[in-house]
Amino acid sequence: KEEKKRKPDWLRVKLPVGHKYRNVRELVDKHKLNTICQSGNCPNMGECWGEGTATFMILGNVCTRGCSFCAVATGRPTEYDAEEPQRVAEAIKLMGVKHAVITSVNRDELKDRGAEIWYQTVIEVKKATPETTIETLIPDVRNNWDALYRMIEGGQEVVSHNMETVEELYRKVRPQAKYARSLEQIRRTKEKGMRTKTGAMLGLGETDEQIFRLMDDLVDNGCDILTLGQYLQPTKMHLDVVEFIHPDKFAMLKEEGLKRGLKYVESGPLVRSSYHAERHVNVPI
Ligand code: SF4
Ligand code: SF4
Repeated sequence: KEEKKRKPDWLRVKLPVGHKYRNVRELVDKHKLNTICQSGNCPNMGECWGEGTATFMILGNVCTRGCSFCAVATGRPTEYDAEEPQRVAEAIKLMGVKHAVITSVNRDELKDRGAEIWYQTVIEVKKATPETTIETLIPDVRNNWDALYRMIEGGQEVVSHNMETVEELYRKVRPQAKYARSLEQIRRTKEKGMRTKTGAMLGLGETDEQIFRLMDDLVDNGCDILTLGQYLQPTKMHLDVVEFIHPDKFAMLKEEGLKRGLKYVESGPLVRSSYHAERHVNVPI
């Protein structure tokens, strides 16, 4: 049984080395920033940081939620740092990032869900480096649609909100979220004229039929871009991997997604929501 659980070859990744990697690390530390690359133990750090890209996580590194797949610490966040937007903007400028991906923890305890910091961050990045395109991977606003609209009005090119899994697995994987509500968030984002994106993890026990329905629901709700990647267990305390999905199946799912009407699909074992994100910033909408 142990044998079955061993990581297949296609999940082997390069170790983080090199001077660009160190440069990103120093900038992140110096500006007291958080990245989902580090907090989420992302397997692509060697590649992304080696190319000078990182995904910044704003609004602290403690989340009000405890999704069973996620390595970010759960608790009562204390941080609310009005200067964070400027620091993120400065780091992005110094790193020479062409396409910046920014995400955040969930701040359910804040009335505005952190929307003002979100808005200011986009504004500051655009001010510091107008040529940098921005992708914001925003949290579930829990029906606070005014918060959503504030989060997306700063001029970012892509607005992402991750569905994470198929509807049938929400209770197990994303207990504090709701499938229909996340779809509605994507639909409302689209109604504001934004380029919309979502991501899901595979290998949690979902069936092909369930994935196809997720794809259809995404198309029906105006989602343009989908990323699909293999779920990896961050620690033994997190959900078990049910299955390591073969790269051929990821390729099949990409074709299927495009056939069903998505405009762009990035699908592969090591794909994360922010992986190669610069490739689809210009997807026509
Ligand atoms: Fe960071 Fe995303 Fe790259 Fe992972 S895929 S290292 S989270 S930028
Ligand atoms: Fe992790 Fe996001 Fe869930 Fe918080 S809401 S536990 S950061 S996946």
